[in-house]
Amino acid sequence: MNAVSEPDQFDVVVIGSGAGGAPLAHSLILAGKSVLILEKGPLIEPQYRDPRGVSGFKRDELFATGPEKIIRVPNVTNTGKAYYSSHVEPDLNDEPHVYREQLGDDRATIEGYTAQVVGGGTQLYGGVSLRFTPLDFRLGSFNAGRTDILHDPDGSVRREARDWPISYDELEPYYARAERLVGINGTHENQAKPFRSGGTYQPPLSTNPISRFVEVGMDALGMPRYRTPLAVITRDHEPSGRRVPADPEQARTGYVNRYGDPLGLKSSTWVSLLAPLRDRPNFALRYNCVVTRLEAQGSRVNKVWYLDPAGSEHAVTGKVVVVACSAIESVRLLMLSGLADSRFAERINPHGLLGAYFLTHCFGGAHATVPGRYDKSVSLDSDWATDFAGTEAFIREHGLWAGAAIYNNTSDHALPLSLGRTHGNQDLDTVWNGFASDLRLTGEGLLRYLDGTFGRSLSVSFMANQVPLRENRVELHSSVTDKWGRPVAYIVKDWHAHDRYLMDVLARTSADILRYGGDGIGHHPVEGFGGVYNSDNGRARIANHILGGARFGTDPTDSVLDVHCRAWNFDNLYVTDGAFMPTAGGANPTLTIQANSFRVGDHLAERL
Ligand SMILES: Cc1cc2nc3c(=O)[nH]c(=O)nc-3n(C[C@H](O)[C@H](O)[C@H](O)COP(=O)(O)OP(=O)(O)OC[C@H]3O[C@@H](n4cnc5c(N)ncnc54)[C@H](O)[C@@H]3O)c2cc1C
Repeated sequence: MNAVSEPDQFDVVVIGSGAGGAPLAHSLILAGKSVLILEKGPLIEPQYRDPRGVSGFKRDELFATGPEKIIRVPNVTNTGKAYYSSHVEPDLNDEPHVYREQLGDDRATIEGYTAQVVGGGTQLYGGVSLRFTPLDFRLGSFNAGRTDILHDPDGSVRREARDWPISYDELEPYYARAERLVGINGTHENQAKPFRSGGTYQPPLSTNPISRFVEVGMDALGMPRYRTPLAVITRDHEPSGRRVPADPEQARTGYVNRYGDPLGLKSSTWVSLLAPLRDRPNFALRYNCVVTRLEAQGSRVNKVWYLDPAGSEHAVTGKVVVVACSAIESVRLLMLSGLADSRFAERINPHGLLGAYFLTHCFGGAHATVPGRYDKSVSLDSDWATDFAGTEAFIREHGLWAGAAIYNNTSDHALPLSLGRTHGNQDLDTVWNGFASDLRLTGEGLLRYLDGTFGRSLSVSFMANQVPLRENRVELHSSVTDKWGRPVAYIVKDWHAHDRYLMDVLARTSADILRYGGDGIGHHPVEGFGGVYNSDNGRARIANHILGGARFGTDPTDSVLDVHCRAWNFDNLYVTDGAFMPTAGGANPTLTIQANSFRVGDHLAERL
């Protein structure tokens, strides 16, 4: 690949093949435009696409059997600590993110990366694919003038909440398209979102019997529930040509959260959208290619510079250039391009908003041990969800500014090794915390722990809007560089007082579901509940939901992108990963990123 004779001019150059990049690439390839995707990570195929029938994906525990590595990043307080690296995240020593802790010290982290592989985060995600509610699109007007918002001493909520420049109704057909083309199972009834474009889901699999406790709990509390929409196909999927096994209930896709799916049933953007178009002459995919900077002439990006797998530098041209590297890395790429050319910097960031209003979700939940033992490998990641906490009634009753989705997890703690590995883990998911630092987890203690936990632990999670704050931001770090010598991303963020309050309310609500679920009367013991701000490194935690930093809007002085996700002062530069979001939404974001990418794809097809 990447021989000198390869074409270097395209209608569209897309940087990143994940949720923000692939859907619009799919639409534009089908519309006959020439599309190049540049992707930093490798191409890892599921079994059915490999000539030997062997998948490139391995469960992390089985793959990473080598010794622990040591953080060698200079000028951070955790240098010298041991870590564990997965095969699709960037190596922590090669390209860390750095965040500022409570006491002002800097730490290296892998938080804020999704996955560096063709398909991006959708290769490793749990696949929870919820729409946002109509209210999530208009939190600015909803909160304007309210006097009942609790824990907002400085009025940040009313000042900083923004309406999206598009409404739920405008995005609805694209939600429907994403659900159909990506391949999602679930149920519509009881969702607090109108499904105007009709039925789009494949039918869900049977629930795992452990989820019965959540069913009972939600019913006892009067919470309308629905089967959690999940990006896993349960029927043959005509748009991508994927086939399910004769008995889809037996397919072992139960613990694909955090792992690639060797079967290809999980609907990553690779297997669902890109692989089916792989042989089209107007589609080129160059993987293991890292884009290092964009070069502009006036208002047009005229060169995209990248390093090929051998480390040689190349430039390509697109009539349109789409940046979709996942929000932190997109902001970083734009800032690095600005470092190389001050005119680029002025154009992309005239109001100092690039990197500002970085967002993740307020998240957390509750967990309990339930009677019996359940095989978590036979069902998918989540069985039941409720929009009870996303309604105006709930929001107003608790003095909140926005709502949340609540759902149960079945596949967490599914594998004995991951149980031990993440036990008590407050830091990177890549640290073997359990075995490393809890001496009770040895000998008989480990057996007791596994016996008490394996197949018996049930959790309920919430996913909620975080108050957007200008000071929560992504910058370039002043001294830490990546393996190519470029400044790494520096993440400066904290939780607003209202975020903490909101997480407390939702953690209690999640705990109630388990309390009532265990015995029907609310006395079942709940072992732990809380919001992520309680954890030791609560400032670093990002829920794998990397949003904001280049928000879209209608006012060029208040946003980085216009309504079509085009950078205001550029004619041909678009950003379509999670960076465009002005508010984070009361649910997991990927379906919304995909729907918006299809929307931008239609705009570009018309424009080109
Ligand atoms: C373990 C895990 C579980 C998750 N579970 C869920 C879930 O259940 N539901 C949900 O909604 N979301 C979930 N997510 C989040 C989801 O993966 C992200 O929201 C989504 O993938 C973000 O889309 P994106 O386009 O912003 O970035 P990605 O999908 O991450 O795509 C970015 C791509 O850009 C590439 N890239 C980066 N820099 C460069 C460069 N310089 N040059 C070339 N390529 C580059 C990356 O390698 C990557 O492939 C999960 C994530 C993880 C990691």
